[in-house]
Amino acid sequence: QVVTRFAPSPTGHLHIGGARTAIFSWLLARKMGGRFVLRIEDTDRERSRQEYTDAILESMRWLGLDWDADPIYQSQRDDVYNKYIDRLIEEGKAYWCECSPEEVEAMREAAREAGDKPKYNGRCRARNLGPGEGRVVRFKAPVSGKTSWVDLVKGPLGFDNTELDDMIIRRSDGSPTYNLAVVVDDHEQNITHVLRGDDHVSNTPKQIMLYEALGFPIPKFGHVPMILGSDRKKLSKRHGALSVMEYEKMGFLPQALVNYLVRLGWAYGDQEIFELQELIEKFSTDGLSSSPAGFDPDKLQWLNAHYMKATPDAELAGLVYPFVEAAGFAGADKGYVAALVPLLKERAKDLPELAEAMRFMLVADAELAYDEAAVAKALTEEGKKHVAGMRALFAGLESFTKETTHDVMAKYVEDNGLKFKAVGPPLRVALVGAMGGPNLPDVMEVLGKERTLARMDRAVA
Ligand code: GLU
Repeated sequence: QVVTRFAPSPTGHLHIGGARTAIFSWLLARKMGGRFVLRIEDTDRERSRQEYTDAILESMRWLGLDWDADPIYQSQRDDVYNKYIDRLIEEGKAYWCECSPEEVEAMREAAREAGDKPKYNGRCRARNLGPGEGRVVRFKAPVSGKTSWVDLVKGPLGFDNTELDDMIIRRSDGSPTYNLAVVVDDHEQNITHVLRGDDHVSNTPKQIMLYEALGFPIPKFGHVPMILGSDRKKLSKRHGALSVMEYEKMGFLPQALVNYLVRLGWAYGDQEIFELQELIEKFSTDGLSSSPAGFDPDKLQWLNAHYMKATPDAELAGLVYPFVEAAGFAGADKGYVAALVPLLKERAKDLPELAEAMRFMLVADAELAYDEAAVAKALTEEGKKHVAGMRALFAGLESFTKETTHDVMAKYVEDNGLKFKAVGPPLRVALVGAMGGPNLPDVMEVLGKERTLARMDRAVA
């Protein structure tokens, strides 16, 4: 069974680069009918915070990336790591080392001067030291040969073992080092495929050595290139927002961001738009690109506009609601907001725009803003007379729907020998405050009879 994982370090919010590798891992698991698990790599106790873990999980949920078991936290697993470290020591594959950081630095310097790769010289390898104050545990790395793997993204990769030194696997304070913890956890979480950023490529040979020493099966690795800015430089703050949460706040839809990030580094022919289900069907690591992709905010906008149209109204209502609240309508009736979505969604390319387009329906009737030019043009004496005339007929309606109001307007036009354009614009200004906006019977149905009449009264007063 395929098992993939996402292993964020909770030292900040979920970054779009991290989100992208999480999406790839999630897609691979879902595609293969496997499992997707999480691991919180919170070993940096200074910089890791629970609030970041919470925020990362929240962003994952928002993106729609569900996971299959409770996340594990590295900070709670020292006993597990030490069990494996002890085993390596017992089997002669790791050793206690008492060299001080200064001594190790001197060894590195000496190697550098001799024109060699700077590394620890293995002084404690054969000393058979036991545990003791200030001692670390080092891994006895192979001194010859090569450590290679076929990367799912980059193809065959390999490092000469002479490049690597006897890495520390347990610090003097008893905590495991990063690579040891990752290998133990990936093994204990039964991970079969590791997809991660290519900033981790240099860790992979070290991890493979540990897998071999521990007798664990080695998972497949795929290292995806970093996301670059639109100028092909390393993505940074100045290229725009970097955390998923910031995109959420700006009003992007999760599907748009997922679709955008997936295509940034993965391709299926030249198809651009993929519904989630389709992504799961079509995803394969074969489509992952080994060259870095540049971030393109316009394309993200374009996808967002597409998903605004494609999202079911009820879902869009839930998504737009926070923006409605932020636009000054805290506590607005959720059912009412939902009723506005189908009327207005075609007019907006993102959620804040949609919330703004709803404003005329959300304000109190007495506070509807009138566009002056529209008033001057349509709410003439003649226009007001028609508004008053239709008001009298609307008042008599038992059932106030878009059909009945439409019929009343049609009858009023016909009975008075008018053209629709004599009555439509003044009524529109009365109800909407401006010349644009959705179909009037739709507007009236959602406003309801009482509010429709109130707006008409105010317009003719
Ligand atoms: N915690 C690592 C990071 O945030 C991920 C390591 C991995 O995926 O192996 O980059």
